[in-house]
Amino acid sequence: MRAVVLSGPNQFAPAEIEKPQIGPDEILLEMKAAAICGTDMRILTGKKTKGVRYPSVIGHEFCGVIAEVGADVKGYEVGEKVAVANVIPCHHCSSCLRGRTNACLDRKAIGYEFDGGFEEYIRIPAICIENGNVVKLPEHMSYQAGALIEPLSCCIRGLKNAGTGFNDDVLIVGAGPIGLFHLQLSKIAGARKVIVSEPNEQRRKVALELGADLVVDPTKEELPAIVNRETNGQGMDVIVMAIGVPALVNSTLKLCKRGGTVNLFAGFAGTGESTIEVNTIHYNEINVNGSTAYKLEDYLAAAEMIKSGKIDADKIVTHRFKIEDFQKAYDVCVAGTGLKVIIEP
Ligand SMILES: [Zn+2]
Ligand SMILES: [Zn+2]
Repeated sequence: MRAVVLSGPNQFAPAEIEKPQIGPDEILLEMKAAAICGTDMRILTGKKTKGVRYPSVIGHEFCGVIAEVGADVKGYEVGEKVAVANVIPCHHCSSCLRGRTNACLDRKAIGYEFDGGFEEYIRIPAICIENGNVVKLPEHMSYQAGALIEPLSCCIRGLKNAGTGFNDDVLIVGAGPIGLFHLQLSKIAGARKVIVSEPNEQRRKVALELGADLVVDPTKEELPAIVNRETNGQGMDVIVMAIGVPALVNSTLKLCKRGGTVNLFAGFAGTGESTIEVNTIHYNEINVNGSTAYKLEDYLAAAEMIKSGKIDADKIVTHRFKIEDFQKAYDVCVAGTGLKVIIEP
């Protein structure tokens, strides 16, 4: 079968590998759509190495049709359309025992410890099935939307950490796929006004179509002055940083209302170090938090939100490529000209 094999940092190419054999308690999934994530890009270029094996197949946002079901697996049938939550928490570590399964200290994940989405057939391990991570999808949901349940579930975790609620003024920094999900979620959570800051014109346009109350080009407009004007000098209740640029953190903190929350959602580039004026946090009693991965409850919620049409995932897809053309897909991601890029078999 065909797969994108990662053999080292910056060494990846489509290749012929053996189709996985499944055990009696496993499922074989025929991949129909797998999305490229910013994290995948960091792995491909060697900027992220934790949990990454060489050679291996990465890709953790995927959806497909069940091709084989092991003899001991119950509740699933060949031909069913499913999406798979790739993160499998241990349920035993101190993080899991405190309910933070998304921040499990001993997690296993498809696309890391197990081969992931950028291949024709994916072996779904028993621990993944037992954990309830294989989610059946209705006919009307597209495969690409199924693949995007995973990034949406991460955003739902971020929304919960940000605590966005009724009548809040929200600023989303960055309108990539993640920022656009945060925009939609903020509106659903009851935000009064959502401002999206994004230098790319095409992305700002999509943000407006998805319900942004105001879009700002931070390279040409004065974002602090706009925030001031739009919030009567109060600042934002909630700010979600959906772009991992450490140098933007300090100026972003200053846009927050007293007692507001800044969620550092994106993974930050380089060492992630940044100089911030800590008195901004101190005197304004700003809550600063992060967000990592998702809990299964977030994944199931994300599936329901897309299923019911409350969240538009298809609008966030701009490109589709075959496994054979992975390099082209990679180049589109590097150029940043699109939004979500999907790999198909
Ligand atoms: Zn991802
Ligand atoms: Zn754990």
